[in-house]
Amino acid sequence: MNNNQQVKFIPIGGLGDVTRNMYLYETESEILIVDCGFGFADETMLGVDLMLPDVSYLIQTQKKIVGMVLSHGHEDHIGALPFVVPQLPSFPIFGSPLTAAFANEKFIEFRLPNRVKTVAFDGGDIQLGSFKISFIRVTHSIPDASNLFIRTPVGNFLHASDFKFDLTPFDKKPTDLAKIVRCASEGVLCLMSDSLGAERKGFTPSEQALEESIELEMRKCEGKFILTTYSSNISRLNQAVIAAKKSGRKVCFVGRSLIKSKDIAEQLGYMNFSKGFVIAVDQIRNFKDRDLCLIIAGSQGQENSSLSRVAHDEYREIKLNSKDVVVFSADPIPGNEISINAMIDAISRTGAKVVYSEVSDRFHVSGHGASRELLLMMALTSPRNVLPIGGTYRQMVAYKNLAKQHGLSDQNIILTDDGLETIFTKDRWTFGKKISLKNVYVDEISGEEVEQFVLRDRQKIAEQGVVIVMVEVDTQTGQIVDQPNIIARGFPTDEAKMLNKNLIQELKSNFQVKNAPVKDWIRFRKIVGDISERFISKNFKKNPLILPIVIEV
Ligand SMILES: [Zn+2]
Repeated sequence: MNNNQQVKFIPIGGLGDVTRNMYLYETESEILIVDCGFGFADETMLGVDLMLPDVSYLIQTQKKIVGMVLSHGHEDHIGALPFVVPQLPSFPIFGSPLTAAFANEKFIEFRLPNRVKTVAFDGGDIQLGSFKISFIRVTHSIPDASNLFIRTPVGNFLHASDFKFDLTPFDKKPTDLAKIVRCASEGVLCLMSDSLGAERKGFTPSEQALEESIELEMRKCEGKFILTTYSSNISRLNQAVIAAKKSGRKVCFVGRSLIKSKDIAEQLGYMNFSKGFVIAVDQIRNFKDRDLCLIIAGSQGQENSSLSRVAHDEYREIKLNSKDVVVFSADPIPGNEISINAMIDAISRTGAKVVYSEVSDRFHVSGHGASRELLLMMALTSPRNVLPIGGTYRQMVAYKNLAKQHGLSDQNIILTDDGLETIFTKDRWTFGKKISLKNVYVDEISGEEVEQFVLRDRQKIAEQGVVIVMVEVDTQTGQIVDQPNIIARGFPTDEAKMLNKNLIQELKSNFQVKNAPVKDWIRFRKIVGDISERFISKNFKKNPLILPIVIEV
């Protein structure tokens, strides 16, 4: 072996802001990619849904991309695939059964050929260029999650993204501790470890604890029992389904993402239903409230989700009342707290009982290991170095303290940053250069890629124009005060004049009908945007960038 050989580890996303996971392992001539997730934009990013990893480095590189391996099927690990993969030269992609199925569903949705190959956990290793990879089953909040043991010319890496050690997982498939130990006996140059739970003491409770809670709450509930969670949390869906079966309720899945997940899980045999047990939304009215368990998408307070429509009384088939119970069985993704709180508020106003993490911790357990589990992983693998990933900087520091407790010294604990190269040789590591990464935003619906607002503006303005709608609104009445200020660019002068006059009228008359106090400003802004968009598209056959600005008076 050549002594100058080195492997660079480069996070393209996944450090600091947790989401957008994408990591590169790079030799002199080859690159292996791990994961390809998107990030969630926060509410301050007007009109933007998602963020993608910036792959310009991969587009420009002269090195050969030998393949991509996916750790698990969460959106922040696979969600960017249909946007990113078409930009890159062709290479093979591998994932566990459910991961591959979820990933391929994305390619199908974007009308791209499906191409993720399925890896069986008990199958052999995968050779991609000079990298030899073992998939190790771990527990997390989605079935078939894996950690990746990556053998390279300079040493072995354990890429331990999202995991916990649940000894009694719902699907009875616990972490393969024996395989972790077996792989680690070949030596671990560096353990790249999940660090999200590093601040929490002890162990994360088992999934098992939830089953009873859900069943108990369901039995007590005299009306509709409603549960919301991540669509991909198949175990949680199964737990609700089993409780419903026991208490004689029919189950209805509401929301596109949820139905898609359920279908995929059913095809793979991860969910099973007897005939007539699952009903469609339009059958709800044929059943008494207390005979229903609804599983509804929208646990993160997403504005367009089914749960949001139910909460705001905009769902024809589902009306909430004081006998209903709504359980949030999911942790808020950082940045989503405001919209989740607004949604909880809206549901509370209907009189329904809402159970969420601040009120009760009986309905959700984290998918990530707490400090004892992170220490256990170090103990099982005896790594020469550790490098926390998948956490905020604060959590990475907490992980560093754990690693010290484990007995590692400062120079063996690597706190790095997105874009920064960590260069490993057989016996030492150093930081290399920092690749500059841009923020890449994407509009989920159109799949249109944008780079910061300026570019988004420029692109859309060039094609369709831009309309800024500024309205002052009375909090008490929800009525527009004074004349809205409308600025239209990219329209001929006479059209702009007409637009100005008619859109003001349209907005005013729309809100006159509603006449109610404003409780949720994010939603109000969205409604202003929607009305404007519909109006302009109908009357001017244009689809400009619309920026609603609502001023509270
Ligand atoms: Zn995950």
